[in-house]
Amino acid sequence: MKDVCAREITCLRLSVTDRCNLRCRYCMPPEGVCGRLHDEICPAEELAEITRQAVSLGVRKVRLTGGEPLVRRDILEICRDVAALEGVEELCLTTNGTALSRLAAPLREAGVNRLNVSLDTLRPDRFAGMTRGGRLEDVLRGLEAARKAGFSGIKLNVVLMDGFNRDEIPDFVDLTRRYPLEVRFIELMPIGQGAAERFLPASAVLEACPELEGVDVSGVARRYRTPGGRGLVGLIEPMSHRFCARCDRIRVTADGKLKPCLHSEQEIPLRGLRGEALRRAIREGIESKPPRHYMAETGRSGAARNMNQIGG
Ligand code: SAM
Ligand code: SF4
Repeated sequence: MKDVCAREITCLRLSVTDRCNLRCRYCMPPEGVCGRLHDEICPAEELAEITRQAVSLGVRKVRLTGGEPLVRRDILEICRDVAALEGVEELCLTTNGTALSRLAAPLREAGVNRLNVSLDTLRPDRFAGMTRGGRLEDVLRGLEAARKAGFSGIKLNVVLMDGFNRDEIPDFVDLTRRYPLEVRFIELMPIGQGAAERFLPASAVLEACPELEGVDVSGVARRYRTPGGRGLVGLIEPMSHRFCARCDRIRVTADGKLKPCLHSEQEIPLRGLRGEALRRAIREGIESKPPRHYMAETGRSGAARNMNQIGG
């Protein structure tokens, strides 16, 4: 289905939890956030029903996110239910990767087609500092388990931060020379704990690695490759090159609120709705999707929640 700006909405991002085992400094406060109570969170069957109705309106791709989706105990059941729905062509999952060594193979069996793994640094001490206690080695073991489980085209999400990982840009680009990975450099957004003074434009990647050659524009990413490289480098620039005109997604928060735009405070409650009533609510959300975000003007996301609560 198209929204009022003629954007075809084909992607649904489902946040399955607002909880997380890490505390990334730009995403969560040190004490974490007060997680929604168990009965406020959509159970597996409601997530499947929301997906079914969204598919009937043209959604083809579903991404499970959070919080950290792999901390949810019934994550495999959710994956199986969503993957089994007719019309779901692709089921993706965004994760911090720390539980992948245990879960990569079961996720694959449960029908997950693609993984995005968030990894902002390749240095153990920096990783522990940025995530407030996480272990880089868990993510690296998780990536290896994902490869062995048969996941291909894994995307690494790297949030660019001045004074933190600018000097690691060439190391991440080098990974794409050696492995068939897509490293996606993402501009830090002023949402949650994202602090403006850390902002680094994605153009810093092209300055650091002038050998990168343009390949294409894929969804919200401009993509590049190194000469002869096996993988790709993607730039995601919500701040310096607003891509709202190409936005094809809607989101549902872990407590069942439809968010037509990540950066708008507009939320449509879906809990308790089924069948035609649910379909109508989702249609209404798509129809009222804002044309763009206003972070450049206001300096802040209009969303009244942190990223872990909405799903990145
Ligand atoms: N826990 C999972 C993970 O880290 O991949 C999924 C949820 S996380 C909120 C999804 C993505 O949002 C991650 O890649 C994270 O780096 C990104 N993110 C969180 N806060 C952000 C911010 N202020 N600006 C840009 N990206 C952000
Ligand atoms: Fe957790 Fe992901 Fe937020 Fe980091 S970015 S605190 S891993 S939800």
